[in-house]
Amino acid sequence: MKKLCLIGSTGAIGRQVLEIVRAYPEKFDLFALAAGRNVDLLEEQVREFRPEYVSVATEDIAMELKKRVRFRKLKILWGEEGLRVLPSLKEVDEVLCAVVGRHGLIPTLSAVRAGKKLSLANKEAIVMAGELIRKECEKSDAIIIPVDSEHNSLFQILEGKNPMHVQKIILTASGGPFLKKSPEELENVSFQEAISHPVWNMGNKISIDSATMMNKCFEIIEARWLFNIDPDRIKVLIHPQSIVHSLVEFIDGVVQAVLYMPDMKVPIFNALNYPARYFLKNIRRLDLSEIGELTFLNVDTKKFPAVGLAYEILKEGGTFPAVMVVANDVAVQAFMKGTIKFTDIMKVIYQTLLEHKNKVVFDVEELNDVIKWAEETAWEIVRRRR
Ligand code: MG
Repeated sequence: MKKLCLIGSTGAIGRQVLEIVRAYPEKFDLFALAAGRNVDLLEEQVREFRPEYVSVATEDIAMELKKRVRFRKLKILWGEEGLRVLPSLKEVDEVLCAVVGRHGLIPTLSAVRAGKKLSLANKEAIVMAGELIRKECEKSDAIIIPVDSEHNSLFQILEGKNPMHVQKIILTASGGPFLKKSPEELENVSFQEAISHPVWNMGNKISIDSATMMNKCFEIIEARWLFNIDPDRIKVLIHPQSIVHSLVEFIDGVVQAVLYMPDMKVPIFNALNYPARYFLKNIRRLDLSEIGELTFLNVDTKKFPAVGLAYEILKEGGTFPAVMVVANDVAVQAFMKGTIKFTDIMKVIYQTLLEHKNKVVFDVEELNDVIKWAEETAWEIVRRRR
């Protein structure tokens, strides 16, 4: 039985992780869980799974939870300290990090430094500090299993392969809800349209990232660091059905791909059980004769500049990736509040990058000041755009 620490339990991925824990009580014991502000759902989860540790966003929420659930053994933490402590607890065998946005950095780093097996669903941590996290993994022997469907597929294909044999890797992209819209039509799309993803049912933040294709920008950078591959060997291919989750072309012309019906439970279950494999209950299994046709096309990088941005950011390196992540977090929040238009999201990101003086960082902690600066600057730019 694995003692599990789940960071981000009330989000879309976190809830699916708990579905799996519920379906396989003989395999997983939920030892610690962290959430943000959704205290109602968190209370339900604590009552059902009886973890020994919980962490929430603030002290007030911690006090509220303490009032509601009076379990003697339950320890409640909050804020950054909670995100740092939970993944490194000695009892924890396995960490699954599914927190949204820039907040993924703290628990990811903590799990890696403690040498844990980490199933990673948050993209931003690797985008912000991929090179530094790689080095920390080497020091501590931590292992990161990507949960993101594309990277989990690449992980499965590349495991045990000689890196010299890889010609290129191809990340597939659904193209999001605006694949068929013209750039002019994008100007006035609503929040509701932006979160109505045609294939995946995801949280609001990642749905919007998917609509701008910033999600794919993050995934290119993630792939660069997770698989230590040259950026010019990473390609993106639009595949609206999201059945093929990524491909690897080898130097002899052979291409391997991973296929399954789009359901995040598949990569979550795969990552949690790695290196073992078990029967996964309650999923739709792939029947290609029923699907009939799979289509692929190139990305229109004029309409979706986020894809091109990934390569520019990788070339720049330093603190640029972190600034981009924070600016995107802020811009998406501003769009969700109705403060800026959909097409302003990319403008806020570009403007924040433009105002940033890039520098080299040797330690993840050095990023803290940059993150604070980027947050303040991006909000300032949002205010200027109103
Ligand atoms: Mg993905």
